[in-house]
Amino acid sequence: MKKKCRICYNKLISILNFKKVALSGDFLKKNKIKNQKRYPLSIGVCKKCKHVQIQNIVNPKKLFNFYEWETGVSRSNINLISDLLKNLSKNFYLNKKSKVFEIASNDGSLLKEVKNKYKSFVLGIDPAKNLLKVSKKNQIKTIVDFFSYEKSKKIKNEFGFFDFCIARNVIAHTPNPNDIFKGVNNLMNDKSIFVIEVPHLESIYKDNQYDNMFHEHIGFHSIRSIEDLCKKNDLKVVDVEKIDSQGGSIRCYISKKNSKFKKNLKINLFLNKEKNIGLFKLKTWMNFSEKVNNHKKKLNKFLKELKIKKKNISAYGASGKGHLLLQVCQIGSNFLDNIYDKSKLKQGKYTPGTHIKIIDPKYIDAKKIDYLLLLSWNLAKEIAKQEKKYLKENGKIIVPFPNPHIFK
Ligand SMILES: [Zn+2]
Repeated sequence: MKKKCRICYNKLISILNFKKVALSGDFLKKNKIKNQKRYPLSIGVCKKCKHVQIQNIVNPKKLFNFYEWETGVSRSNINLISDLLKNLSKNFYLNKKSKVFEIASNDGSLLKEVKNKYKSFVLGIDPAKNLLKVSKKNQIKTIVDFFSYEKSKKIKNEFGFFDFCIARNVIAHTPNPNDIFKGVNNLMNDKSIFVIEVPHLESIYKDNQYDNMFHEHIGFHSIRSIEDLCKKNDLKVVDVEKIDSQGGSIRCYISKKNSKFKKNLKINLFLNKEKNIGLFKLKTWMNFSEKVNNHKKKLNKFLKELKIKKKNISAYGASGKGHLLLQVCQIGSNFLDNIYDKSKLKQGKYTPGTHIKIIDPKYIDAKKIDYLLLLSWNLAKEIAKQEKKYLKENGKIIVPFPNPHIFK
């Protein structure tokens, strides 16, 4: 178990223990269910910088070599991408002369858009071999590997500096964030902008989103923790915005420490808000496990009452956070018949830890399913729109956070 903070290397204090859970990406064929591996999972907070993080390390190769999440599958995600690119072109002059590098470029959805719309030079890096086929189809040059400072030296040799380095939902996943920041710094000059998107600790705390705390999500970030990372690696945050992603994320624009970019004063407002709700007090996190337990009880009670009334319940969204929630709350075939998910890579397989069959949402039928527990609750609006027919025929959707309730 990890005892030292990933940002400042001071001591970690344990605040939450989920015992052993299966990895959120470990989907199984039926005959493999018996051999499901489970790994300890506990959460700690740094005594000094108060960065909240996972204490157990699983070999990243196990987590990301076969990745079941495709960027291009979610409509909301496509919207976030085009919104980001508009900002980059308006505020930071993304254009056909720009060079754009994306870390964890996944299926190449973002870079494809950059290439088609802005005609820039693009390069991606991603460890998932299975996604290479998709990025090849998108004609995006992709290095199949993890990004690191070492790797950045080779990239710099071959391609030089980049005007934009983008890491969406990467920093939260990395066991050594300082190394990523150092590597990106190596690819930047005084005009470069580094964009990151991370789930915001403020939302995680306020809405009690403990389902975000699974092995793939290693660190839970605030503006303060991002500023700490920047300071350690000669960078600075120049702008920030809150975005509707992963249940509430922040998008930070970062430059070299000595660049001419001025710091937007908005950043201080964000920092003050984080401080005022107590995100950097130990006491806040010492009480977190009680908040988690209360939510667990509420969700179980909610489902039990439906079962007593002989209602049929299934779930929607075989997402990483969903598998953590089901495992921690011990919701399996005792409550759920099936789980529906649009990803063809997941359909026909069984969910990690809880072993529920995953089925194509086109089979959702209000005659057979009274309630759908929405595990990808951050996409509630998008999924409700998509499941209009089900809702119209009196099917109900349960949103588990902040407290379990019926979607209206
Ligand atoms: Zn620390």
